[in-house]
Amino acid sequence: MQGVGFRPFAHALATGLDLGGFVGNDADGVFAEIEGTPEAVKEFLAALRKDAPPLASIERISTRPMRPTGASTFVIAPSQAAGQRRTLVSADTATCDDCLAELRDPGDRRFGYPFINCVNCGPRFTIITGVPYDRPLTTMAAFAMCPECAGEYQDPANRRFHAQPTCCPKCGPRLWLTGPAVGGEPGAEPAVEPLGRAAQLLSGGLIVAVKGLGGYHLAADATSESAASALRARKHREDKPFAVMVATLREAQRLCEVDDTARALLTGRRRPIVLLPRLAEPDVRLADAVAPANRQLGVMLPYTPLHHLLLSQMAGPLVLTSGNVSDEPIAYADDDARTRLAGIADAFLGHDRAIHIRTDDSVVRVARGRESVIRRARGYAPEPLPVLVPFTRPVLACGAELKSTFCLGKDGHAFLSQHIGDLENLETLRSFTEGIEHFKRMFDVRPQIVAHDLHPDYLSTKYAQDLAASAEGAGLELVGVQHHHAHIASCLADNGVTGPVIGVAFDGTGYGTDGTIWGGEFLVADLAAAERAAHFAPVAMPGGASAIRQPWRMAAAYLDAAYPGGLPDKFAFLGVRQRNDAHWDAVTGMARRGVNAPLTSSAGRLFDAIAALVGVRDQVNYEGQAAIELEQLAAPSETGSYRAHQDGDDGQPLIISGTDLIGAVADDLAAGVGLEVIAARFHNAVADLIVTTCEALRERTGLAAVALSGGVFQNVLLTGKVVEQLESSGFTVYTHSRVPCNDGGISLGQAVVAAARPRGQ
Ligand code: ZN
Ligand code: ZN
Ligand code: FE
Repeated sequence: MQGVGFRPFAHALATGLDLGGFVGNDADGVFAEIEGTPEAVKEFLAALRKDAPPLASIERISTRPMRPTGASTFVIAPSQAAGQRRTLVSADTATCDDCLAELRDPGDRRFGYPFINCVNCGPRFTIITGVPYDRPLTTMAAFAMCPECAGEYQDPANRRFHAQPTCCPKCGPRLWLTGPAVGGEPGAEPAVEPLGRAAQLLSGGLIVAVKGLGGYHLAADATSESAASALRARKHREDKPFAVMVATLREAQRLCEVDDTARALLTGRRRPIVLLPRLAEPDVRLADAVAPANRQLGVMLPYTPLHHLLLSQMAGPLVLTSGNVSDEPIAYADDDARTRLAGIADAFLGHDRAIHIRTDDSVVRVARGRESVIRRARGYAPEPLPVLVPFTRPVLACGAELKSTFCLGKDGHAFLSQHIGDLENLETLRSFTEGIEHFKRMFDVRPQIVAHDLHPDYLSTKYAQDLAASAEGAGLELVGVQHHHAHIASCLADNGVTGPVIGVAFDGTGYGTDGTIWGGEFLVADLAAAERAAHFAPVAMPGGASAIRQPWRMAAAYLDAAYPGGLPDKFAFLGVRQRNDAHWDAVTGMARRGVNAPLTSSAGRLFDAIAALVGVRDQVNYEGQAAIELEQLAAPSETGSYRAHQDGDDGQPLIISGTDLIGAVADDLAAGVGLEVIAARFHNAVADLIVTTCEALRERTGLAAVALSGGVFQNVLLTGKVVEQLESSGFTVYTHSRVPCNDGGISLGQAVVAAARPRGQ
């Protein structure tokens, strides 16, 4: 990667070891010629890898002996212009310790300056407008360096040598504070000290929009019930949890359990939101409206100097949520933010360094002792993921529809885009199409293959088809990849394996090869191909998409399928039946006649049905809410389970009966079993049926490796049980880590499938 301080590092290393020669970069990366004593040369090579600068990514070091030229000094060779296109762009990086020390040092010329950065930290991906990565092609182009900054920039011994976004209070961006609560105009000479005043407003319970690295956040005092509730009301976000930013690791530990892995994630250079288990009795009381009825809390530490300065003036944690009205993409342009957030924010804390690429905060959690990425965005994108099967022809993969990402594949690298959002409004679609063009230019990829989902109505599918039909798309090969095959392939790529495996793909919705909606799938799959080996028996989704928004409809459809002769009298008491009495017969009738009631084998819909049945909720306000709350409800210590039968003739997929579980849950409800116990038994039952089905498929195929993918495996309780039981049954189990198991991983899966599939298939 360029601009990570590798050449100065090599220079300092060689000089310290009395080596002669030079270091430079070309199309393939960094090269160096060194001469000196054998011991010094050996030490140089060892240190090159071991002590490399934080943002350098070393894939390979190759060496060959040369005839000495008698060089006694070591120099940095000038950059080759031709070499710059290939170099990679690094992700945005949290403020480093050296910069933090300067930020807090009253004697430093950048004391208290909210835009301090260096070659080891600061904005990258979000400010790059083109390649090569050089100041004129960043949003820092508008700021001419002062002589002092220019001197540092040109000095190989300085931490700011070739640090493209470097600046200081004399020559760099400025903060401004505006909005109804303060008056003033952006860009005008501030009448007040913006940071201190913003902190005051926040402490007073007001809502402040704060410009971050990849977009605007909305900030509010996380300990103030009225501030947090006002933010919810104004954002139209009913109950989806907010994330909080805390000043220090210690503050995080006062709210949540933080294990070693979580600590490394919280304090690392990527600085994602880390989902942590909340302490039963936290030292700091957060407002209930922050994350209502949730055992987890999304926590992050400051990652820009602006955040550090702001948090240092606050007494407690801040809610920091994306700057948007519910479901819209995050605002990142100043004018747009002031328009769209006008009804939400009382003030705007912004600045004149533009954001070029909208990028949300990343979200991760710890699972099986390692990082598990749920939303991959700021701090991660656009770092490439190495792949096992190289892209012999460059690929563009267009992803799915919800939690959309795209992926470009070239040689041994997959460039997975940041989380873009749900492709349902024009603004998100524009981010998607412009993002593809930006990535193509940045990484010099000219796709020959375009991979897409099989769903004909996904905007990403239409984009792929339109592209192939356009003039510039002449000669492009279109490759359709089944949704759940893409899930499993992305899990394989995430783990650096190629299969074949038993792939368990459980999610809400994915278009099947038979035109029905799949989502509770067992596939026998490798990268090139997948075959459906087992699945839930399909049930109707009465009302189609409204069955997704109203889980009670799935409960009705499932109960009707379980008791086709009519609901037995003993179930007349069922809450879900009584609460929805007015529409019950219409909905079950719809399911029976198959009118506007597509069939689905979705595991997500089964979770919804059970959640409604036990009374968790009849309607959802965000995707997956019913299942998440069902998971929260489950009593962790319960060991009881239910049994779901499976059938299947030889050579045919096994069919698993979801209605068995519905009947068992209804029976437990009738018997007065506690809801926490029922929720736990259901989770145990799903884990059991996954394990028994995998065992049956191992009998049939001889395969003893299982890959788990799909959004349902965001369920920690379920995934933990499944992994443990599969492993004790002798399976090798692959789960997601670097790439989301939800639809954010689909584009990577499509890309590796397209690369592995023989030409023309
Ligand atoms: Zn730094
Ligand atoms: Zn300066
Ligand atoms: Fe999916």
